[in-house]
Amino acid sequence: MAAPRGRFAPSPTGRLHLGSLVTALASYLDVKSRSGQWLVRIEDVDQARTVPGAETDILRSLESLGLYWDGPITRQSERTTLYEDALQQLAARGLAYACSCTRSDLASLPRSPDGETIYPGLCRQGARPGELPPAWRFRTDLAPTQVEFADEWQGVRRQDVAAETGDFVIKRRDGFHAYQLAVVIDDAEQDIDRVVRGCDLLDNTPRQILLQRVLGLRQPAYAHVPLVVEPDGTKLSKSRRSVAAGALGAAEALHAALTLLRQPPPDDMAGAKPAELVEWAVSHWQPQLLAGLRSIQAPAGGLGSGGVSD
Ligand code: GLU
Repeated sequence: MAAPRGRFAPSPTGRLHLGSLVTALASYLDVKSRSGQWLVRIEDVDQARTVPGAETDILRSLESLGLYWDGPITRQSERTTLYEDALQQLAARGLAYACSCTRSDLASLPRSPDGETIYPGLCRQGARPGELPPAWRFRTDLAPTQVEFADEWQGVRRQDVAAETGDFVIKRRDGFHAYQLAVVIDDAEQDIDRVVRGCDLLDNTPRQILLQRVLGLRQPAYAHVPLVVEPDGTKLSKSRRSVAAGALGAAEALHAALTLLRQPPPDDMAGAKPAELVEWAVSHWQPQLLAGLRSIQAPAGGLGSGGVSD
């Protein structure tokens, strides 16, 4: 059997922070403990959110942490033809349609618990001509949309996409393809077997599985990593949005991330270099310790709140 392939797919919207380091490390350990390949894909499909310099910064941080990737870096901004081909294929099959709804048209529609519009298909019969180009939505009324999958760490998940998100956007009005479509095409095209990423994407996964089904693409294994939160349970603060740079900072950051992942290095590894810590972690990786964990609390102050930034 071919070596499994995993990936880390950061959006270049800022620096690597304690939360994204935990995700990067979990995906690296997951696939390296299976003697697989770890790819890095820059998810800059949303060019409006891309921050100049963030990509270089993230890649330098990964290198200083000893997290070396296999193969070339890929960038979604260079792969839009692939996404457009998939969109055209769906449209030709009647599974995608143009939607001219504006923000104010959507304002009164019901929303899911995470605040996303549940779109009832208002433009299925045709978009109204408008000044702006239309968005493109995936039709959820033509085939079964019940999705069930077994997340390796979060257990069995079920969602009826039609009821919980409705016809979702696969290309936005600003011309950028939606993450849901891009990620499915990329994971398939890059032969990704294992998708290890943050729990904030757990509820997006059924939409992606639905697209895989209709496009005839293989479904990778999914394992969602708990989100790192502040000790009071709130979102990670801005002051923790930078990790790694110098060798000492990198070792401390790895130590902190491994501790958050419930695999603290033993005391005799104090003073170990990043590469030694990563090697230890690969051979001692125990993912079962993360089972059912949705969030993990960052230590109060200290690491990740400035101590390891450059
Ligand atoms: N680009 C996404 C993020 O930075 C991750 C997407 C994925 O791993 O599927 O949150």
